[in-house]
Amino acid sequence: MKKEVLGIAFDDLTRAEAAKAGAALLEEDKFHYVVTPNPEFILAAEKDEEFRTVLNGADLVLPDGIGVVYSAKIQGTPLKERVPGIEFAADMLDALNNRGGRLYLLGSKPGVAEEAGRRIVERFPGITLCGTQDGYFKDEEAALLKVAAARPDLLFVCLGAPKQEKWMARWGRHTGARLAIGLGGALDVFAGRVDRAPELWRRLGMEWAYRLAKEPQRAGRMAKLPLVLVKAAGKRVKKA
Ligand code: UDP
Repeated sequence: MKKEVLGIAFDDLTRAEAAKAGAALLEEDKFHYVVTPNPEFILAAEKDEEFRTVLNGADLVLPDGIGVVYSAKIQGTPLKERVPGIEFAADMLDALNNRGGRLYLLGSKPGVAEEAGRRIVERFPGITLCGTQDGYFKDEEAALLKVAAARPDLLFVCLGAPKQEKWMARWGRHTGARLAIGLGGALDVFAGRVDRAPELWRRLGMEWAYRLAKEPQRAGRMAKLPLVLVKAAGKRVKKA
């Protein structure tokens, strides 16, 4: 069931339900893409119609941040739980490992996707890493041709938003992949270049605070987040 939060229609699933739905998409012989919007996406999509359309056109729209879950609650349409993109990605690696299949990693700085891939196949030996490419290409179509030549089943697209979502919507079906996921900085995490917050911080919904403390340069971007909560409250007031 979809629930709209400030113009974006989210799938109301637990992490386990999202993993099951994602694994089913991986079995279907056609292209699907998944997006994992956080509050920054919601604000950007308000001003960017193409981005909004691309997000709403995804096969699964998962609430990546606690800010989305709070906004949904404030608005009066609560979502079951947050489903962080990185955790959904790990679940899809598990699913691909179980059935056997090919993984392509697109994005991040040169060297990061290779390192992430090396670590992933070490942990999931049923996965074939069929290719990697950094995310600083000039020619979108040339990047696509490289991906398609590798014949992936599962494709991680980590170019930052909204570039990664627009790339998936525009080129995804030509890659031959069954499932593409837009995952922001996830390859940096899989490569061990950036730590995720410790479990306790995550359980408390405080991962954003941990990231802010580690990367203070994100403060400008994060300062926008309370705005989403205010807008959600405004929506509730209008409904009342
Ligand atoms: N990136 C990229 N190509 C670009 C811009 C960004 O591959 O043209 C990568 C960047 O190296 C990083 C990821 O995209 O690995 C986005 O990171 P960001 O922190 O912006 O995303 P978030 O995790 O916050 O969604």
